[in-house]
Amino acid sequence: MAFPSKATHQQTRAYNVALVLRALYDFGPISRADVARLSGLTRTTVGDVVGELIADGLAREVGRGPSTGGKAPILLELVDGARHVIGLDLGEFRFRAAVVDLRGRVQQTSEREVSGLDGDAALGVVHELVDELARGRRETLLGIGVGTPGVIDATTGTIRWAVNLDWQELPLGAILRERYAVPVAVANDSRAAALAIQLFTDRRSTNLVAIKVGRGIGAGVVLGGELFHGDGFGAGEIGHVVVDVDGAECRCGQFGCLETVASTRAIVARATEVARENSDSNLGRRLADAGVLRLDDVRAVLDQGDEDARRLVVAAGRSLGLAIAGMIGLLDVERIVLHGSVTTLGEPWLEAVRDEARRRSLGLLSRSVTIEIEASGDDLVVMGASALLLTSELGLAVGRGAALAGR
Ligand SMILES: [Zn+2]
Repeated sequence: MAFPSKATHQQTRAYNVALVLRALYDFGPISRADVARLSGLTRTTVGDVVGELIADGLAREVGRGPSTGGKAPILLELVDGARHVIGLDLGEFRFRAAVVDLRGRVQQTSEREVSGLDGDAALGVVHELVDELARGRRETLLGIGVGTPGVIDATTGTIRWAVNLDWQELPLGAILRERYAVPVAVANDSRAAALAIQLFTDRRSTNLVAIKVGRGIGAGVVLGGELFHGDGFGAGEIGHVVVDVDGAECRCGQFGCLETVASTRAIVARATEVARENSDSNLGRRLADAGVLRLDDVRAVLDQGDEDARRLVVAAGRSLGLAIAGMIGLLDVERIVLHGSVTTLGEPWLEAVRDEARRRSLGLLSRSVTIEIEASGDDLVVMGASALLLTSELGLAVGRGAALAGR
């Protein structure tokens, strides 16, 4: 491997632009002199870069600040809506896409159901969604960020394996880059959500673990303020950690993985077993009425105070808690956030997760751990995927001043 001997002119320029943007982003409205002071660049360089940013529509002058003796300085700010990113969440049953501005605020969304679509058809839906949202925005489209389940090579944007979409070694990043001629960032959905929680919620933690508990289970790990990918982009794949050595076979080929006991699928399968064992039970009657049980049925029966439902929901929560205890022991991270469809089971499930995580980990470490549900979860993946793109393309520390919808 050869190191470049010195930065090219273009690299220097891009770096200077990123420094100025960052100052405007975090501290605007701000004077040119203060941008120079904060960035360490000369006033001449700042003047040149600001001139280019104004010409590009990314910055604007917004009046004068207080005078410090001489002439009052002109203040500058970033134009939040000057560029857009399209964020995609290629979820379990539906694809969700959103246009976000430079602050990560969602401007427009669109969705498609994708249950039962095979790999090529699913890719067609991705194109359809991007075509729809990019319409009329080609001039301001900065890039595309994608969050998808599975193991993703985040450097190339290649999906190495996504079971539910039937995608293997799919170079999604390259396909989208070629079709739309903009930069593309692709990351695992659990990791994108973790990034969004770290950036856009009020409590900005340096370390956090965000676990998506739905049809699959995966965690995003933020350490020292940065997303941790692992050596093979598989960090946080806790869905396939074995929690029951005598357990059922998993779709990955192992036995007793966390997904076989704590995922949506596992909870619904267990509820269906209970319903078949006793057709007079609440679950049994519900199965007879509907023909098939869903997670919503389990929750409805649980809300009626049904003991069978409570028992199986608590068992699922405990299994997750056991896996979390392992992460607490390994990482000593105090903030653990849960999101995904299973979190809609609410209090009895959450209590079981918390109890087991505390009971199975070292008291000294677990005492200060908080395990909470992130309720405003719908846009987490699109926001996180967009943030990845904004960070890589503009060097922006996205998130300051932004807030999740409804907070
Ligand atoms: Zn597995």
